[in-house]
Amino acid sequence: MISFLHSSLLYKYSLVYITRRSTSDMTKTKKVLKSHHNVSQRKNGKSSRKNKTERTSAFSEIKHKDGWVRIKIEGEPYNRGMNHGTLLSSMFPRMFEVLGFALQKNYGHDIDFFLSVCNDIYKPIIHRNYPEFLEEMRGIADGAGVSLNHIILVNIFYGLDVFYPHLKEIVNSRTTSLSSSIKQKYKKFLKEDNHENNGDSKPNNSDSRSKKEVNDHCSLIMAVGSEWTSDGKMVYAHNTMSSFLSGQFYNVIIDVTPPLGKGNRMIYQGHPGAIFAADFFINSAGFIGGNTTIANFTSFELHDPIGLRIRQCMQYATSLEEYDTILRTRNSGDYASSWMFGDTVNNRIMRIELGVKYINTEYKDNGYFVGFNSTYDERIRKNECGNHKNGDFDNIKTSIGNRRHRLEELMEKYKGSLNRDIAKKIITDHYNIYGKKTRPNYRTICKHAFVDGKAPHPYQPSGSYDAKVADTNMVQHMEFMGRWGIPCGATFDAASFSRKHKQWREWGSHIRGLNTKRPWSIIR
Ligand SMILES: [Zn+2]
Repeated sequence: MISFLHSSLLYKYSLVYITRRSTSDMTKTKKVLKSHHNVSQRKNGKSSRKNKTERTSAFSEIKHKDGWVRIKIEGEPYNRGMNHGTLLSSMFPRMFEVLGFALQKNYGHDIDFFLSVCNDIYKPIIHRNYPEFLEEMRGIADGAGVSLNHIILVNIFYGLDVFYPHLKEIVNSRTTSLSSSIKQKYKKFLKEDNHENNGDSKPNNSDSRSKKEVNDHCSLIMAVGSEWTSDGKMVYAHNTMSSFLSGQFYNVIIDVTPPLGKGNRMIYQGHPGAIFAADFFINSAGFIGGNTTIANFTSFELHDPIGLRIRQCMQYATSLEEYDTILRTRNSGDYASSWMFGDTVNNRIMRIELGVKYINTEYKDNGYFVGFNSTYDERIRKNECGNHKNGDFDNIKTSIGNRRHRLEELMEKYKGSLNRDIAKKIITDHYNIYGKKTRPNYRTICKHAFVDGKAPHPYQPSGSYDAKVADTNMVQHMEFMGRWGIPCGATFDAASFSRKHKQWREWGSHIRGLNTKRPWSIIR
């Protein structure tokens, strides 16, 4: 399946300058792009860069530190993509091998089926509305030695969980822009595949698919204003939570500088091939952003994938209101989330609970938001999520309910003194409100689902596998603190785990790199 991946690695050393250093050298490496370390001055919603004359010719580099892999790329879309793909080329083969395994397990289809979906359904949309980003993806594909459809797939797979059950509806719809031959192709497939038995086309029965995947992902806090933070400015923390199968590849930090006049420099967390931040970013316009997904979300309309809209925000939006507008425009509902953004220039934060039929946006300049995989907007919970999840918001027996109440409790506890150190403490918290105990498990903010026999999928190799913390000062210096690995410093040894929990042995055999305790690092 993936043997062709190796074919173009010969590009690697001829096209880019690569620096590989020992793990302790990241902070010692000389700064080549001095001008882009500072946030631009942005007043009245307009963005302009300081020190713009310091730009030099295209440059790219890769550094490794404390489990993180940080690449820095710049230039025109295809060139920066080519550098991205080339720098990370050694990581792609195993990622696609694991992705193929996960797709087969979750949907009963091999990766080729989903590559066809990318080619037939998603590529035309991206070509039409995001030609710049399609070029970047084309560059990544050529640099990595894979097809463009492979790179599209890793940028849209977040939404497959809602896309797939709606496939029948999409191909039968008279309003979608798909050609009749594409519709026929998938109608034939659905007929042969007996789709109803594989992926349920009834949106309210979302539990019948993806039986082994967790449905809630990540925890987040964000606060601003003199009543809440120690200096009145912004504080932010996030940990990513999902299956370790996909999570193991999220240790990549991508630092992109587009040509002058073509948007912001962005530093974001992702996996090889990612052109957007599924979970965390900062940019040179002084914004920070992240999300927690809305668990068991079921609505879907075929429009623009979320990744492209988020990338549009990261690169071009000049105000929180513009983030809101971009996310509401041509909204698909894929990877439906509570997205939270902070504007460090104007000291303001925003949360958008992004359903499809219902969307709720709030702004604060003295307050906080927390994220725990549900929504405060009950219209979204009641109308756009699977029925059984409606109660989780209030149910401390669930991970969602426990984390919501615990996060709110901790924000109130530290009201007025929130800073980076306290944010680290909150995002690594192990307290169970339900059990009244401090013990890491499926419910806790620093989530250890893999130790929990009472989790919905007992002992599933999943949980939190990173943490990021930043404040206004760090964002404005284009840096953040991050720990790669379980946020509290615990470790996950896939080999011994697989021996102990044989039902997950096959999964365990695909997981690497979470068996080491690593320190918090400054990423810049
Ligand atoms: Zn922990």
